Amino acid sequence: MSGTDGGDGTPAEGPGRIGDGTRAVRAGLPEPVKYEPTLPGPVFAAHFHLPGEPTGPYTYGRDENPTWTLLERAIGELEAPGETGVETLVFASGMAAISAVVLSQLRAGDAVVFPDDAYQALPLLHEQLRAYGIEVRTAPTRGDAQLTVLDGAKLLWIETPSNPGLDVCDVRRLVRAAHEAGALVAVDNTLATPLGQRPLELGADFSVASDTKGMTGHGDILLGHVSCRDPLRAAEVRRWRKIVGAVPGPMEAWLAHRSLATLQLRLDRQCGTALTLAEALVAHPDVSGLRHPGLPGDPSHEVAARQMRRFGSVVSFVLPDRAWADRFLDALRLVDDATSFGGVRSTAERRGRWGGDAVPEGFIRFSVGAEDPEDLIDDVLRALDTAAKGDPADEGLAGTG
Ligand SMILES: *Cc1c(COP(=O)(O)O)cnc(C)c1O
Repeated sequence: MSGTDGGDGTPAEGPGRIGDGTRAVRAGLPEPVKYEPTLPGPVFAAHFHLPGEPTGPYTYGRDENPTWTLLERAIGELEAPGETGVETLVFASGMAAISAVVLSQLRAGDAVVFPDDAYQALPLLHEQLRAYGIEVRTAPTRGDAQLTVLDGAKLLWIETPSNPGLDVCDVRRLVRAAHEAGALVAVDNTLATPLGQRPLELGADFSVASDTKGMTGHGDILLGHVSCRDPLRAAEVRRWRKIVGAVPGPMEAWLAHRSLATLQLRLDRQCGTALTLAEALVAHPDVSGLRHPGLPGDPSHEVAARQMRRFGSVVSFVLPDRAWADRFLDALRLVDDATSFGGVRSTAERRGRWGGDAVPEGFIRFSVGAEDPEDLIDDVLRALDTAAKGDPADEGLAGTG
């Protein structure tokens, strides 16, 4: 998908409609001022000059920072192009953003619905919520199964595509049911980024993400954000950020803003290569359980195509066993064995090493970077051949491949 328009049929903007790349390079830039930089550098300040009544925005560094303001504006433009009134708040990490929504919206006695196949730190959050007297229900992402446990819930939490299983749920359908039942809806949009999917346009109340991943894309900062249309809800999330102080440093915020300029370039390359890689693996004899939402035969594809504009840079698949998967990872030359995803350098990992995800021992989560597609695919196919040959230590080849 080219991403030169709204993609899902919704005009991205009115008459002056622009493409994703144009929007990404200009997002959040201040009005030009002669002799000032295009993107002002990070503002390092714990406090600001503040004589008299504190009426302006910048008083103390935990509340507001001009570098965050520009980044928040930029992310807001990507989350809801052409819309005013959407508020975006940046956080120190994705988990800080997630916790801010959940903990600012729920009270003792409320019920919340989470996916049971989502980000691996969520069960820690579930435990904490239960300790606060909040009822936590879970159901799989696949088949919109969260619908079945929605009754009486205050908040529905969606993660689509889910990490690491890459299942997809129908956001519009879940939002309709949740709103009819009086529940708010938050979507963890980390894997897709706003250029892949716009949860607020699909009806969600909160679009939440770890910008540590594809959004900033270089594997060098932690960051998160929450975007939301309702000013009262936004104020509650802002208040939570101030209470817990889960704020990003100005340097991280500035690096993130700088990285957003290449978001469309990176995603188009990475998502394109992810699909090419998936296609190269479809018929591979050692690969099973291959998943990528962009693959026409994938169980997620039909729903993904209705709500996504790019299908993400992650491909997952299963190798015959744990040792096989380790041999594959060892044999890769252009791909780092590392966690996380969405970066310009490809990474892959055997997900089962963490525990907690319901995945087979040979399950590989592969994050496609910005390398030349043919180089990457050659490397993967060669590593699969090496892995199929068995333990290199048996042949005295350890460390050479
Ligand atoms: C990484 C991730 C998070 C957590 O983000 P951090 O920035 O590591 O705190 C949340 N949700 C998803 C889907 C993620 O991949």
